Amino acid sequence: MANYYQPEIECASREEIVRIQNEKLVKQVRHVYDNVPYYRHLMEEKGVTPDDIRSIDDIHKLPFLTKADLREAYPYGLLGTDLKNCVRIQSTSGTTGKRVVAFYTQKDIDLWEDCCARAIVAAGGTNEDVCQVCYGYGLFTGGPGLNGGSHKVGCLTLPMSSGNTDRQIQFMMDLGSTILCCTPSYAAFIAETLAEKGYKPEDNKLKAGIFGAEPWTEEMRRDIEAKLGIKAYDIYGLTETTGPGVSFECEEQTGMHINEDHFYAEIIDPETGEVLPEGSKGELVFTSLDKEGFPLLRYRTRDICVLSRKKCSCGRTHVKMSKPMGRSDDMLIIRGVNVFPSQIETVLLNEGYSPNYQIVVDRVNNTDTLDVYVELTPDQFSDIISENQKKEKALEGAIRTMLGIGAKVHLTDPKTIARSEGKAVRVIDKRKLV
Ligand code: ADP
Ligand code: ZN
Repeated sequence: MANYYQPEIECASREEIVRIQNEKLVKQVRHVYDNVPYYRHLMEEKGVTPDDIRSIDDIHKLPFLTKADLREAYPYGLLGTDLKNCVRIQSTSGTTGKRVVAFYTQKDIDLWEDCCARAIVAAGGTNEDVCQVCYGYGLFTGGPGLNGGSHKVGCLTLPMSSGNTDRQIQFMMDLGSTILCCTPSYAAFIAETLAEKGYKPEDNKLKAGIFGAEPWTEEMRRDIEAKLGIKAYDIYGLTETTGPGVSFECEEQTGMHINEDHFYAEIIDPETGEVLPEGSKGELVFTSLDKEGFPLLRYRTRDICVLSRKKCSCGRTHVKMSKPMGRSDDMLIIRGVNVFPSQIETVLLNEGYSPNYQIVVDRVNNTDTLDVYVELTPDQFSDIISENQKKEKALEGAIRTMLGIGAKVHLTDPKTIARSEGKAVRVIDKRKLV
């Protein structure tokens, strides 16, 4: 039996959702035009006024906002209300450059926490659960978002923040955590550490994990599920629109329902900006329909994914987005071929290797080089060099089949690749460093 936090919205009819979106968009555009001079100028440049926006069908008339705009307008240029009405700021983790700050009114925080509560309930959470939040607390949105959602659901919340893995495990075992919230790479590390301490999957009380904030593959999901004995749910979000909870997975685990009453999603061609029909792969663009502090319209996320309105067995009617396969700026172009780190992760896990890997790209004599460092588990480790070489060759073959280009694989000793407690650093592109 599916559980909902706000069924009247999560399972609303299409007509009802469109009605809500139309009403909110018209109001929001007027509000932004009147209160955010930076965006008003962009609208003026495009010759659009609030009167031109009568329903969601008119949204394509509005200008896009990009990360560059956010940096230019830093810190207050996109503020949508008086600073005195704001109660919080959060900031991006700065994965791809200068940090961005976002502002929240109390209402913004409430809606954000509702979104996270929807995600927790979709993962089976109730007030009987013990929810261990080991996303970072502080400026990063992961900890505060899931913390707020967990309170709303009434779970016993463990505000662990990230790091100190021994203490994470002690609390998990002593207090019987049933839901684990963290990045998938940290979940993999916790699972590894539990096994090292001699715990089996059935020794913990966990039933679900809510993992997001970075790309992860289906293979990684299955690996974590088996090692922790749980069902692992994806959650997505970004600081610019709120934080985690913009979309979340239900029990079907086939994509994340976008909270459409708060965020309107479009998929565009990243080259031309043209809006693409449902089912096309492209860049995700979000419009915050009711954010007060930081009301971004048509914000280009640079995340590449696909939207689907296929009926979901959970009963939710909100559109689903596929797992983002990475950001457009995570995409590596190696010898002219587009490569996403997630493709390499898929191969590694399918071939039975650990999710501890690093990709190094460089340019030697005007040719791109791709080196993949993959850590062996103690079971896989062998002293016999020829055996390792054979394994490396096999993996190189599998990567070539997936990517269409060659890579040099280096199998490394156990525990030689740094573990992540937050977002994992998977790629070192030395070409960008020169
Ligand atoms: P930063 O851009 O500095 O990492 P954020 O902490 O706001 O700042 O991270 C938001 C980004 O994290 C998203 O745009 C997306 O690229 C990535 N992300 C968040 N959740 C997921 C997820 N479930 N799967 C893949 N990527 C995700
Ligand atoms: Zn569903």
